[in-house]
Amino acid sequence: MEDVTARDTLLPRQQLLILSGGGVDFMFKYHLLKNVFKKITWNWADISARSMGIEFNRLPAIDCTTKLFATWLKTELNTNRCKEIYWEVKYGTEIDWRCTWALPFRIKLDPKCCEIHWKIVHRIYPSKVLLFKMGIEQDNICKHCAQIDFIDHFFVTCKLVRPLWSHIESIFNSLHGRVIHLTERDILLGIEDLHLSTYTVLDKMIVIAKLCISKFKYGDHPNLVHLFNRECRLRHMNIPE
Ligand SMILES: [Zn+2]
Repeated sequence: MEDVTARDTLLPRQQLLILSGGGVDFMFKYHLLKNVFKKITWNWADISARSMGIEFNRLPAIDCTTKLFATWLKTELNTNRCKEIYWEVKYGTEIDWRCTWALPFRIKLDPKCCEIHWKIVHRIYPSKVLLFKMGIEQDNICKHCAQIDFIDHFFVTCKLVRPLWSHIESIFNSLHGRVIHLTERDILLGIEDLHLSTYTVLDKMIVIAKLCISKFKYGDHPNLVHLFNRECRLRHMNIPE
């Protein structure tokens, strides 16, 4: 907490930007931090004041320890039901949430991969629709195909990313001799199967692919499929050319 606070308050945005080095998701992290601080410092002070029967004062930000921060965040994350309902309404079906939330632990990939899965499920990944809402972008249109850049467009239907999903389907076919068609739900939430190790490999490829799409669209990599193959090999996955 000392890293982001000074004199009992959260550091100014510009200062945090310099300290953190920025990045496309800086604004999300900043707003998350700001909201958490606001809630913890007021709520906590309110509860303690009531229990002691005194007029409450705001808890100094410096006393908002990492543990307190984590506890609050965990409580908030337990109220995931509204996010779950969004996806169930969108796909008109029940979803095995135990499987979806646990996916990062099951696939055992690096934190960057887990983070992207988490951001998508929580619908906080910075597609242009979200960046436009936050006033960071001038419009919400995908610059590659002039469609509205919702999260499903960004990762699934954009013409720039379709060849990658076909590539993964053909890898799966050549490794397991089985033709599959990845649905939008498979791509955004992962494959719902806790038992088949072949699907764990597929889930790994899906998450790595989403990380590559993010790198490709916000970076300067010339070829998405090559980028995906390279990222898989870096993670010791056996991918045929
Ligand atoms: Zn597009």
